[in-house]
Formats: sequence, C-alpha cells, structure tokens
Amino acid sequence: MYPAAFDYHRPSTIDEAIVLLARHGDDAKVLAGGHSLIPAMKLRLARPAVIIDIGRIANFSYVRDAGDPGDHVAIGAMATHGDIESSALLKRVCPLLPETAAHIGDVQVRNKGTIGGSLAHADPAADWPAAMLALDAEIDVVGPRGRRTLRAGAFFVDLLQTALASDEILVEIRVPKTSAAVAYVKTEQKASGFALAGVAAAVGPGGVRVGITGVAAKAYRAAAVERALDGRPLAPESIVLAAAHAADGVEALGDIHASPEFRMHLARVNTARALKHASSR
Ligand code: FAD
Repeated sequence: MYPAAFDYHRPSTIDEAIVLLARHGDDAKVLAGGHSLIPAMKLRLARPAVIIDIGRIANFSYVRDAGDPGDHVAIGAMATHGDIESSALLKRVCPLLPETAAHIGDVQVRNKGTIGGSLAHADPAADWPAAMLALDAEIDVVGPRGRRTLRAGAFFVDLLQTALASDEILVEIRVPKTSAAVAYVKTEQKASGFALAGVAAAVGPGGVRVGITGVAAKAYRAAAVERALDGRPLAPESIVLAAAHAADGVEALGDIHASPEFRMHLARVNTARALKHASSR
C-alpha cells in the first residue's frame, strides 16, 4: 500500500529541522533511514501530514573520539548500523557496538537504518537499547528549549515511547571507551532478525552490567542479575545462578513469535551465554 499524502521538507541543518518540527507540531515526523517509519506509513499505522527528512544534514553520521580526555566515543544520530559495524575506532575501544550492529536485520537494513532512528523508535525488539543500557550510554537531544543529555536508563519509557519530546531531535549518542569484556547474544525472529531476547553484557572493573531487549515492552537492565554477581568471581556456576534472575519482575510480551514464558526462558539462557562469553574474552 502507498503511504497517505504528506508534505516533504529537507532541512540542511539541525536548527532548521527543529524550527520545522516546532512549526508543524504533532502533524510532523522526522525521517531518518525510513526503515521503521516508511513501513508504518505504508500500513497506515502512521499518517504524518509533514515529513522532515534529516538525511541530508551534513556531519550527522560521525563516529569520533569525544570527552575529556577522549574517554568517550560520540556517534551522530544519522550513523547507520553499518557505519557502526565497520568503525575501526569502535572495534578498538567499544567492541560491543560493532558486535551488536552485526545482529541487526540484513545488509540492506544496516546500510539505511540509523542508530538515532532505532533509539527514537524504541521498538521493544530492537537491538541497540540492550547495548545502550549495558554501556550506560548518554543520549543527547535538541529542541526549542535547547540541548539536554539523558542516560540510557531514563530514555526508554515504554513500548515505542521514549523521553524524547515530540519537538526534539535525537542528535548524538556517547559511549565510554571501555576495558570491560563484552558480548551480545540474541535469539532472533527468523524472518526479520528482530530480537525475541537479546542480551548485552559488559564485565569490567566497575562490575557487571546487563541490558535485555525483546522480552518486555521496553529494554531493561537486569538489576537482579547484576546484584547477584556483585563482588563475586564470574565462575560458570555463579553465572548460571545469577542468570536465573534475568526476567525477575518483568512483564514479558507474548505474540505469534514467542510466548511470554519462552521469552523469559530465552532471557535467562542468553544472559548466561552472554556473561560466559564476555568473561571468557
Ligand atoms: P526511521 O524509520 O526513519 O524513523 C523511525 C522513528 O524514529 C520515526 O518515528 C522517526 O520520526 C523517529 N526518528 C528517526 N530519527 C530520529 C531522530 N534523530 N530524532 C528524533 N526522532 C527520530 N532493528 C533491529 O534493532 N534489529 C533487527 O534485527 C531489525 N531488523 C529489521 C528488518 C527489517 C526488514 C526492517 C525493515 C527493519 C529492521 N530493523 C531492525 C529496524 C531498523 O533497524 C530501523 O532502521 C530502525 O529501527 C529505525 O531507524 P531508521 O533510521 O530507519 O528510522
């Protein structure tokens, strides 16, 4: 099906895009890679009257050193999953992101879909949120009231809902350069590649962090797993005992692809696998 008719704007700066977004309010939608928005428009699940295409804004897909003294990597919102998968900098200092990117969809999806679009869309089965939580990433958004920084834990609010206001644009993600051993393990929905349960683990001097996607309405930190491993050596037995808490307190989703019970089971199994994998690295 064709999308409903819409007006199209192609700003060349972020400031211009924000002015357009403020002018058109809830009638407008930002277009990034289009790999979630366009299918929703074709199905008429989304019917924006105005499209603001941010795809031609210059210098919006960088992956570069940032922070003081260069202790972070900054990623522009329009960086594609493929840009991140192939980034030599990230492979060296934050390998969880290239590893996660490689799990997203297929080559075509990775060449068009963007990290900013994926985070803003907040699909409960998207891969990036798990990695963002495990790395405690910072997410910068800009709107008419200026720029603000959100931690990943505060960004994901509910199913397809984030802390991003409707007149704001997600502009940058920052992740720490990390000496933590990391791993991303997912069981995917075979047709699309979306996660039935995806687990990102980071095991470092500061402790263990586990982000889980695909299981609940929003991605979450597996706090009970992290607590169970606090101060303990990561032996295989302690990992299995801790991973049993991966779905504690979680209201799991059920659909034609997997029941809530199966998703919770996968969360536990993949948490154990991700922790073992990370700690073996
Ligand atoms: P768009 O579709 O352009 O936008 C998505 C939403 O975010 C829209 O509401 C838009 O207004 C908003 N938006 C976009 N950018 C911004 C911004 N900078 N600031 C504010 N709002 C913004 N994803 C996975 O994680 N794992 C998978 O395995 C996977 N498989 C896929 C398979 C297929 C066949 C397809 C079509 C998609 C798949 N995806 C998967 C989703 C894909 O990663 C999308 O690219 C991504 O979810 C959305 O990014 P986008 O750049 O395409 O955003």
